[in-house]
Amino acid sequence: MEFEPVIGLEVHAQLLTRSKIFCGCTTKFGNPPNSNTCPVCLGLPGVLPVLNRKAVEYAVKVGLAVGSEIRRRSLFARKNYFYPDLPKGYQITMYDRPLCVGGGIDLETPEGRRRIGITRIHLEEDAGKLIHQGTAGDGDRTRVDLNRAGVPLIEIVSEPEIASPEEAHAYLSALRRILLYLGVCDCNMEEGSLRCDANVSVRPAGRREFGSRTELKNLNSFRFVQRALRHEIDRQTGVLRGGGAVVQESRLYDSAADLTVPMRGKEEADDYRYFPEPDLPPLVVDDAWIDEIRRGLPELPLARKDRLAAEYGIPAYDADVLTATPELAGYFEAAARASKNPKAASNWVMGEVLRNVKEEKEGIAACPIPPEGLADLIGLVASGAISGTAAKEVFEEMWTTRRAAGEIVAARGLAQISDEAALLAAIDRVLSAHPGPLAQYRAGKTATFSFFMGQVMKETGGKANPALVRKLLAERLQGE
Ligand SMILES: [Zn+2]
Repeated sequence: MEFEPVIGLEVHAQLLTRSKIFCGCTTKFGNPPNSNTCPVCLGLPGVLPVLNRKAVEYAVKVGLAVGSEIRRRSLFARKNYFYPDLPKGYQITMYDRPLCVGGGIDLETPEGRRRIGITRIHLEEDAGKLIHQGTAGDGDRTRVDLNRAGVPLIEIVSEPEIASPEEAHAYLSALRRILLYLGVCDCNMEEGSLRCDANVSVRPAGRREFGSRTELKNLNSFRFVQRALRHEIDRQTGVLRGGGAVVQESRLYDSAADLTVPMRGKEEADDYRYFPEPDLPPLVVDDAWIDEIRRGLPELPLARKDRLAAEYGIPAYDADVLTATPELAGYFEAAARASKNPKAASNWVMGEVLRNVKEEKEGIAACPIPPEGLADLIGLVASGAISGTAAKEVFEEMWTTRRAAGEIVAARGLAQISDEAALLAAIDRVLSAHPGPLAQYRAGKTATFSFFMGQVMKETGGKANPALVRKLLAERLQGE
């Protein structure tokens, strides 16, 4: 019997607000432990939360971008559980009245574009962080850092419509692009600003009912999501084939061993004893505000991809790579416009530029060559002033010295010889110096042509414009 997986993803994204969701503490990452705290986010008695307007704006932005219905009235709720990183003993989140409902995210799949439904998007506060230390002299201790407690999160819950680990990866990539374009999350998985849990079950192919699912927690890279899902699908399929039953539970992915292990029995929702947060009024979002946020939405990644392909005549593959971040797309567009040579701009950006920025955390922002500078270089190649090989050298030097392409070409004598008279003189010198091959050519041995090409390049110290030499040499031999 064939089995098919059913996958749903829950993504937590930290919002890029300057302050926390219910107090004025900074959200800055990397400050000394517990320095970004106050009585509100420490959960001291007698304090009251005040909602951060920007966090609501960002959540609405995401909802509008994925086509959700924005609820005019939503409710915060308390989700009660005990954990040392949650000093209040409850998390403020949204339960049965979330801010955004419905919508979907379009994925590129080998079979074409496919929409994965969004169930809901809600706002909540992040918990603190436990730091487990087991170094000598320090003993086996766990420390609590509450800098993260109260950082605003949105949780984006997909419908269980994802059909494979590859599709899960594509969904996360598409979602990440949307969040980056909206500027609401930096999507840095290493710093935990984007986190993913996956619900997965398998069922006999074609059956409508879902099998028992497991929840894979805290998958901290796209690659791990894909690998953990693959492993878990294989494990569940094995259990069912062996006549067993899948136990509903939470499992942790061990990336070193590449397997998932049980975490704890899955709580029922009742266990959290959700109830409406008494310290916060219902969240009311009016039409005027929603319209204002809608007007401020940027061009979204898929739309930009389609536009780049159509407007600049570049392949869909190029347009996809170039729209990975809005900054990269902007860089390409500036270089394409300035050079009036979009395909060359695309090749340079996807090749040399991305190869050089790969190591840099800040991406294209780390590129020291402005798009206009790259356009100048593209122009020098297109006009035949320098060869493609020389252009690579010039690029490397532009990267390290930040000097302009023309300056480097002049200083290093990299200019190509495109002067026809000079090239014809070199051709004549070569032909008269090699009467033997010339006679062979005349006798019909046309392979001698490349011999002459090589000799002319040698004669000019490799600086001749090869396309022009080819043309002039052909004409000259024709005239023989
Ligand atoms: Zn605080």
